[in-house]
This record gives sequence, structure tokens and C-alpha cells, in this order.
Amino acid sequence: MRASDLILLGPHRSQIRSLLTAGAGSERSAYMLFGIADIEADPWTNQPRRRLVSHRFHAIGDDDLISASARHVTWQTDGFMRLLNEAKANGLIPALVHTHPKGHAKFSEQDNRNEAELARTAALKGMPGLISVVIAGNGDIAARIWAQADKAEGLGRILHVGPRLQISGLKGTPADFLDRQVRLFGKEATRQLSGFRCGVAGGGATGSALLPLLLRLGVQEAVQFDKDIIDETNLNRLHGGRRSDVDAKLPKTAIHTRTVEDSGLGMTLVSVDAWAGHPATWDALKACDVIFCCTDDHAGRLFLNRFARFYGIPVIDVGLAMQRRTGAAYDLFARVSTLVPGHPCLLCGGYLDPRRAREESMRRNDPDAYDRLKEEAYVLGEGDPSPAVVTFTTEAATMAVNEWLAGVTGLAGEAGMLPTRIRRFHARDERRPFVEPRPDCPCCNQAATLGRGDVYPFLDMVT
Ligand SMILES: [Zn+2]
Ligand SMILES: [Zn+2]
Repeated sequence: MRASDLILLGPHRSQIRSLLTAGAGSERSAYMLFGIADIEADPWTNQPRRRLVSHRFHAIGDDDLISASARHVTWQTDGFMRLLNEAKANGLIPALVHTHPKGHAKFSEQDNRNEAELARTAALKGMPGLISVVIAGNGDIAARIWAQADKAEGLGRILHVGPRLQISGLKGTPADFLDRQVRLFGKEATRQLSGFRCGVAGGGATGSALLPLLLRLGVQEAVQFDKDIIDETNLNRLHGGRRSDVDAKLPKTAIHTRTVEDSGLGMTLVSVDAWAGHPATWDALKACDVIFCCTDDHAGRLFLNRFARFYGIPVIDVGLAMQRRTGAAYDLFARVSTLVPGHPCLLCGGYLDPRRAREESMRRNDPDAYDRLKEEAYVLGEGDPSPAVVTFTTEAATMAVNEWLAGVTGLAGEAGMLPTRIRRFHARDERRPFVEPRPDCPCCNQAATLGRGDVYPFLDMVT
């Protein structure tokens, strides 16, 4: 049996909460469907793990309600059979939701008896489990899964994903070296920050600045994705890079691993020597609680844009553009976008170019075909190496991590993370463009993709 945890997406959490209002003091119930994210080997424990991602909420109509009070709720279960059929047809896991308006987020003896019976029905239908979620009047949520009909296992760890980010069920005390941070954010927020498993896609200029920030903030588990070897021209901006590393042709990941190990701050950093998006990265990406996208390629960005939607794992994307327009005029932009349910995706924002993404993945996967197209002038071309200066790449990394801090701690208000911030270094200002999800966006505006989890082909992408 795989250890399991839950990812609860903001829109579903709101729908669960709405049952409290609808019940006005008496219990209410609903159904849900969860996507499955199976991890063959967790990067930090090497053990298999299963994550359950909230995918859809199914209200139970008033017609189906038989009776309800502050201590019980009973309803017609015809809808339950339809739910099981839908789960089975789509490889999803069914769930029951109910409220304890006057009680705690704890399952009662009554719950045990009722659910055991429904779990038996689900097992007979061939379901790999039945999830149960209970919400208390104070908003606390508890969850468990009946993987066998006679035994439920608690899902103690829940990652709540929206503009605010939170992991419930974390234990442990913040490390001593975090004392001054605890004085600002408090113990609980610091425990939260330490408990996030962080992915860093891209170990170049931005990634090399970002990873040490996570280290100093107390993050204990991180995974980095990169395939590059350091070269002479990286030394103007790659934090931790040494001239001797260039001579030794060290992978960038090895440089960052050395930085983390030398610090002695207790972070376990795992390296995956592949670009985010390569099948070798899928397992580790699914194991993350937040992913910082620090690549400068469109292909990796397009991939993570979609990944965030399917797995409900927040992606914080960093983009930079630097050029000298004329003798005295500069364009210096840093953009940070947070990909969580409710925020428009990078395609809707126009922040990535699907054509360039296709060309980049072709260049990596089929260089011969890419060269042929290039000769025929069908590709946009990469141009000369683009300009890059360490102060801007480093500030962009800081912006990204600060946005995550805003999501976890609420330091910039209850609203949490902004969808997109664009800092213009040349104008010394910051813009927050308002972007609406496009009605026809194939990524962020379809209920079918939200929290869908594992599907074949991966992310339903045909390459
Ligand atoms: Zn109950
Ligand atoms: Zn979109």
C-alpha cells in the first residue's frame, strides 16, 4: 500500500465550505472525484507514493436529501452509483464530503459505520479506494481513504492550493538557525516554509540565485532539474560557480549540490539531470509541493504550465527580458507568474510562444529534423546569446520566492499571491497586468483538466 497525501484545490475547497452555509447549522453532504498522481519513487525517500488531487465537486440536490440535523445527514444514494461509474470510466477516485457544523473535523462512530458500507460498495465496483472528507464549522478539514472496505487510513497531510498556500498536518519545530525568521513570520509559518518540498526547474542564473534563498528560508527537501554544463560565459551570473568548475566541465546541478552541502543547513537536494518535461523528470515533479520555473526555454515552460493545471501543484514562473534598444534606451523586464487554480495560465497571458516551444523541443529530441527546418528557414531562430546581468536575474529570483512567501505567510494580505508581476528595471516600476483566462484556452479554462492527475498520454499531450 502506497503512502498517500491529498492536494485540495481552492475552487473545490470553496465548494466544500459552501456546504456549511447551505446547511445553516445542520449537516450537509456532497460527492467529489479525485485524480491520481502515482509516484514510482519519491525523490527524497525512494518509496512509492500516491497523491490524490481534487478534480470535481458534485453537489447532492435537495431532492436527494432525506433528513438532516446538526448531528446527522442521510440522503438517497442513487447518485453514488453514478459517481462510481464515472470514477471507473475515467480512472478517478470517488469521495464523500460532509459537514460537522457544530463539531470537530473528526470522523465519528456513525461516520465509520456509514462509510464502511459505502466503501464496500466501492470496492465491489473495483475502485482502488473511497475518500472521505469532513469539514467542521470552523473551516478545519480532515480526510481519510478507505483503501480496504474495513479499514480507513488518515490522509494527514493536505496541500491547499490557491493564491494562498498551506500544508495541514505538518509536524516538527523550525531549526534553530531560523530564529530571526520566526521573529517575523512566527513558528507556524516557518514550519510551513520548511515543510514545502520544492522543485527548481533550471539551474542557470535565476535557479542558482533562487535555490540558496530556499536553503536560507529553511526548506528541507528540494529537487533540481538541469542538464547543462557550466561554461566561461556563465561566470558573470551563476551563483556558486567557480573558474575551476569551468575547467572541470561540472554540471550546474553539481555546483548547486556543493553549495547546499557546504552550508550544513540540513537540506536534502536531489538532482535530476534532465530538462523539466523529459519523462525522467515526471516522477520527481509530481512529488513537489511547489515548483519554481527558472528555465529560459519555452518548451519547459509550456510543459510546466500544463503540469500545474493537471496536478494542481503550484508553479511559480520567472521570465526575464533584457535588451539595449538604442544607445541610451534599455528594456529590462522581470516577470513572475503564479500558476494556481483561478489564475490565468501563461498562454492566456501571452507569456510563452507555442511555436518556439515546439521548435525547442524538436531541437532537443530530433536535432536532424530541426536542422533541416532551419535550413529551409521555417524556424524562428535563436539569435545570438541574449544579454544577461546578475543583478537582474538575482532580483527576479527574489521576486519569485517573495511571491511564494506571500502565498504561505499572507505577508501581502489575505489575497496571497498575485497572478503576474512585471518589474521594469529601466523604468524603476512594477506592473500587475490584468489578464482574463481565454474562454477557449486549452489549458486553464476547462474543468476537465483541473486536478485530472495521471492520464495517458501524459498531460494528454501528443508530441
Ligand atoms: Zn460525520
Ligand atoms: Zn490559459
